[in-house]
Amino acid sequence: MSNEATSTPELRCHEWLPSHVRPESGELAFLATSDLAAHTRGRAVRVESLSQTTSCGWVPANLGIGPSGHITDEIPFGSSGDLRLLPDFDSAVRTTAIPGQPPLTIVFADQVNTDGTPWHGDARSFLRQTIAELSADFGITVNAAFEHEFNDLGNAKPTQPFSLLAHRGLEPIGSEVMAALAEMNAEPENWLPEYTPNQFEVTVSPAPALTAADRAVLVRDTVSAVFAGHDRDVTFSPVPVAGGGGSGVHVHFGLNDDATGETLVFDADRPGRLSELAGRFAAGIVRYAPSLTAIFAPLVVSYQRLRPHNWSTAASFLGLQNREALLRIVPTNEIGGRDPRPQLHFEFRGGDIGANPYLLLGILLKAGMEGLRQGFDPAEVVVGDPDSAQTPPGQLPTSLADALELLENDDVVRGWFHPELLATYLAVKRAEIAEFGALEPAEQCSAYRTIY
Ligand code: GLU
Ligand code: MG
Repeated sequence: MSNEATSTPELRCHEWLPSHVRPESGELAFLATSDLAAHTRGRAVRVESLSQTTSCGWVPANLGIGPSGHITDEIPFGSSGDLRLLPDFDSAVRTTAIPGQPPLTIVFADQVNTDGTPWHGDARSFLRQTIAELSADFGITVNAAFEHEFNDLGNAKPTQPFSLLAHRGLEPIGSEVMAALAEMNAEPENWLPEYTPNQFEVTVSPAPALTAADRAVLVRDTVSAVFAGHDRDVTFSPVPVAGGGGSGVHVHFGLNDDATGETLVFDADRPGRLSELAGRFAAGIVRYAPSLTAIFAPLVVSYQRLRPHNWSTAASFLGLQNREALLRIVPTNEIGGRDPRPQLHFEFRGGDIGANPYLLLGILLKAGMEGLRQGFDPAEVVVGDPDSAQTPPGQLPTSLADALELLENDDVVRGWFHPELLATYLAVKRAEIAEFGALEPAEQCSAYRTIY
C-alpha cells in the first residue's frame, strides 16, 4: 500500500491558511466579528467545507444588539436586509489549548454587502479604512497593542497587589492563557497579578493596527474561555465592585513612516522627546476626546471608573509618564544603552472593555489625523499634576448620557461615521441607559459584572 492511501488527505484550506493554522478534519472554523457592544459574534463552518471564497450570512439589525443581547428598538435596520461575513484568512489563528474545548480555528471577518463591498456599519472595516486614510494622506503607519485588566471572581479571599501568591493562587489559568495566546500568534508578553484584589492583566506585543485589534478580541475571549474551562468566573467590567479599583483597556501605539518604517514619534530636542508631528497628532486626540468618550468608555458603569485619583483618568491631557493622563508618553528602557528612539510611544488610558477594539483604535487615529489636518499646535506635555498645566485640561463627561450628547453634537466627529452606524450606536447606548442608568452604583456593578 502506498503512503498516500493510508495518510489522511490534506485539507484544501491548508493551501491558503497561514502556516501556523493547520486544522484537522472534523474541526470547526469560527468566523468572528466584534459588535458595537464589543461582544464577539459570528458563525462556524466545518474546516472541510472552507474555500477561499467562503462567506456566510449575517443580518444588518445585528448591529443593534446591545450588551444584554437584545436587538434595540429605534435602530435604522429592521427584519429585512442581508450581509455576508467575509473571512480575512490572513487573520486566522488556531488553538488547541482551551481546557475542555476542542481545537478551534478563529478567522476574523468583515461584514460586507452581498456584492462584497464593505458595509458601512462594520467596525473592522472602519478601522481598515482609517488605516488606509492615514497611510494615503500622511504616509503614516501604526503599530499598537492593547492591555487588558480583569478580575477573578472565583476567589473570596482578597489577594495582595502584584504578589506571587496571587499568581500561584490562580494557576494553571495564567499559564494556560499565555500558552493559548502564544499558539494563536498573539505574542503574549506579560501575565501579571495587578493592584486590585483578584485583578490580573495580560499584555501582548505591538502589531500592525488591524492585527492589534484582532489580538484584543483574542485576549478577552481566550481569558474568558480558559476561566470557563475551570468553571471559574472572570469579569473585565470597568468597575466590578462599587468603590473598588477599576479595570481598563489601555491602547499603546506608535507612528511610523510608511516608506522607511522609522519612528515618527521621537525628537530628543523637544518637550517629552515628542516630535512636532506626534505632538499635533496627540493634540487631535486631546481635543476630541470629550466627544469620543461615549465610544471609548461606553458603558453606564464606565463612569464609575473615569474619576480622578483612580489611576484612570477624568481629564483630557497629554502627560509625561503620568498614569492619570488620558494620553501618556510611555517611559523608555535605556538599560545597557538601549536606544529610546524606536521605543517612544503613546498609551491611551481611557478605554474599557465595553469599547469595540476596532472603533477604539479607529477613533484615536481619526482624532490624531484631525490634529495634523487642521494644523493644531503640538499638545502641551504636562509634567506632574494636571493643575499645573498652562492650558487647563478638557474635562471628560461624567455620565454616559452626557457623553452621548457630546458625541451627537460634534460635527467633526459625526462626520467620521456613516449616519446609520452612528444612529445605531446612539440608540443602543440610550437603551442601555434606560436599562441600567437608574440603578444604584452597586447594582450597576453587579449587572455589568455578568455581561463583561
Ligand atoms: N486599573 C487602572 C485603570 O483602570 C490602570 C492601572 C495601571 O496603570 O495599570 O485603568
Ligand atoms: Mg494595569
